[in-house]
Amino acid sequence: MESVSSYFGSMVFNDTVMRQRLPQDTYEQLQHTIKEKRHLDIGLANIIAQAMKEWAIENGATHFTHWFQPMTGITAEKHESFISPIGGGKVIMEFSGKELIRGEPDASSFPSGGLRATFEARGYTAWDATSYAFIKEGTLCIPTAFCSFGGHALDKKTPLLRSMQALSKQALRVLRLFGNEDVHTVDSSVGAEQEYFLIDKSVFEKRKDLIYTGRTLFGAKPPKGQELGDHYFGTIKPRVFAFMKELDTELWKLGITAKTEHNEVAPGQHELAPIYSSCNIATDHNQLTMELMQKIAKKHDLVCLLHEKPFAGVNGSGKHNNWSIATDTGVNLLNPGETPAENAQFLLFLCAVIKAVDEYQDLLRISVASAGNDHRLGASEAPPAIVSIFIGAELAEILNALENDVPYGGKEKELMKIGVHTIPRFPRDNTDRNRTSPFAFTANKFEFRMPGSSASIADPNIVINTAVASALREFADILENAEDFEDELHKLIRATISTHKRIIFNGNGYDEAWTREAERRGLCNYRTTPDAVSHLLDEKNVRLFTEYGVYSVEELNAQFEIRMENYCKVIRIEALTLLNMVNKDILPAVSAFLGELGGSYLARRGTGLNAEPVYEKEMIESLTAKLNDLYAQKNELQALLDKDLEYADVTKRAFFCKDEIIVKMAKIRALVDSMEEVTRSEVWPYPTYGAILFSVK
Ligand code: ADP
Ligand code: MG
Repeated sequence: MESVSSYFGSMVFNDTVMRQRLPQDTYEQLQHTIKEKRHLDIGLANIIAQAMKEWAIENGATHFTHWFQPMTGITAEKHESFISPIGGGKVIMEFSGKELIRGEPDASSFPSGGLRATFEARGYTAWDATSYAFIKEGTLCIPTAFCSFGGHALDKKTPLLRSMQALSKQALRVLRLFGNEDVHTVDSSVGAEQEYFLIDKSVFEKRKDLIYTGRTLFGAKPPKGQELGDHYFGTIKPRVFAFMKELDTELWKLGITAKTEHNEVAPGQHELAPIYSSCNIATDHNQLTMELMQKIAKKHDLVCLLHEKPFAGVNGSGKHNNWSIATDTGVNLLNPGETPAENAQFLLFLCAVIKAVDEYQDLLRISVASAGNDHRLGASEAPPAIVSIFIGAELAEILNALENDVPYGGKEKELMKIGVHTIPRFPRDNTDRNRTSPFAFTANKFEFRMPGSSASIADPNIVINTAVASALREFADILENAEDFEDELHKLIRATISTHKRIIFNGNGYDEAWTREAERRGLCNYRTTPDAVSHLLDEKNVRLFTEYGVYSVEELNAQFEIRMENYCKVIRIEALTLLNMVNKDILPAVSAFLGELGGSYLARRGTGLNAEPVYEKEMIESLTAKLNDLYAQKNELQALLDKDLEYADVTKRAFFCKDEIIVKMAKIRALVDSMEEVTRSEVWPYPTYGAILFSVK
């Protein structure tokens, strides 16, 4: 068998390949351009394009594409072949520097939230040289940012890169204060654990709801779900194993460091975690991972469901966004150090995150808000919709000692003083890790657990990076002017803990009592997407993003439009699918079953025996009542959908979807599920939950 190291990254135009194939001065100039985050000069681009093309063709590529991430959260590509006619019916393979650095896809069909007037249909894409080009299915993919000609970001990569720059700049200011002169850039590192479901293709194809919406709109509870906890970390079934193996291989070829694959809590649910990397690479890689999961599943006659809540009653899927900050010299700034000075620096960065999460808890919640994730957050399986931070008992005690000047320590307790005392090392694998916390400090990184499984991780990382940059800037402003640095630092840390400790919660996030406690503390609790997104344009949020140049006001307005609109569209598609299923399959099926029962009732009565056919009689009565009710309810839903189209204001429409349409859909679902429970198996038009969840043998 081929060893992994021989093909890892074989489809990537990475540093090793560039070093081999580019003239040395070109290679060096490119490195310089990347480091300084400058635009690539066309002369340089021509040389790189030539080398890239040769490498791509040698590796079987015939096409190239600018690979980008429009605001829909998925990736987009427009393939062009390398061929160029030279007369006589012949072609040569060409790829120029201009084509490498800039593309002009027709942007008119991507959502732009009004940013790109229709007369300006073309946007342009520009190579993000910090992310390597790669070959996917015979196409050279060039990771790019996507903008309108007016310069507005039409994608998720552009604001993400801007947020990383903001973070780097402010973190550097703070590091200089601690005497770190050798650091040139600071980067956020991200490892995104990805949850997903695998089901058999044959059951998927029989469910219109899964096909059109990615989730089941109906389904009575099966006799067995996840109660026994026998799936979590259980033995991986051979078919799933074969899928995971092929997935790992394909990801490795793309230089994606897939590291762990295991079963999750729900039947049919699994997880993949890569080794963490720089924030924008991790984002690109997560998009590719999702794409490959779906494609490879198909090859195994499986379907990969990335929806946040494909099934009611069993766990949904999320994406744990592990986040830390590291210097280009390889130091993780969220790692408690060995010396008092390193500890002081660690505490300051820790405080920056605490302050950032408290001040922009609403933005964090907004960044993960979607129609799909609304089914998950707060459902006693995923973190609640309330943002809070878990730091663990030990760190909590240290912060408390600092804030209140109370003694801390083992046998010999003493007063803590910044710059003098060393924080004890936390055990790397502390077992009482709080799984219910949305934002948990896990030894040397924060794990944000609210992101949904289908969403891009760009949005939450844009918020974390920018909010932490803002906190660091405030700290740097104060400390740069301090007369006595250590004294000022001590005061600053104390004040930060005291002001922002309300966001720290080490208890059980699923507990009802926490909701009340959080309300007392004044924390936000935005249960749904419209509730959350309504706050995107709050003054403080606009100020944050514009101050650091992450989003302009126009871009934020567009974000708002797109998010609300997307929510309304998803709900409408779900409601239409539900109506289709009720009208065409469920009503006729139950009606047919009633006919069958009626026939059976008459036949049995006709036997002349005295015993009344109780089953048929009572079933006919109760099912008829339900069928009539269903008919009435679905007509009411239809009326709501007609009304839905009359709303001109997107916010009003989103609230209408949430308050009326979703509520009606839930009512209909409950009714249909109760009918499924008593209808003869062969008559029911769809595979049951049991058949779907346990479809992969
Ligand atoms: P878990 O117990 O949650 O699986 P792991 O330690 O295995 O925790 O890490 C989960 C994810 O966090 C992986 O993707 C891993 O690469 C990533 N990770 C580990 N350390 C860091 C770090 N310093 N910064 C960002 N991500 C990290
Ligand atoms: Mg985790």
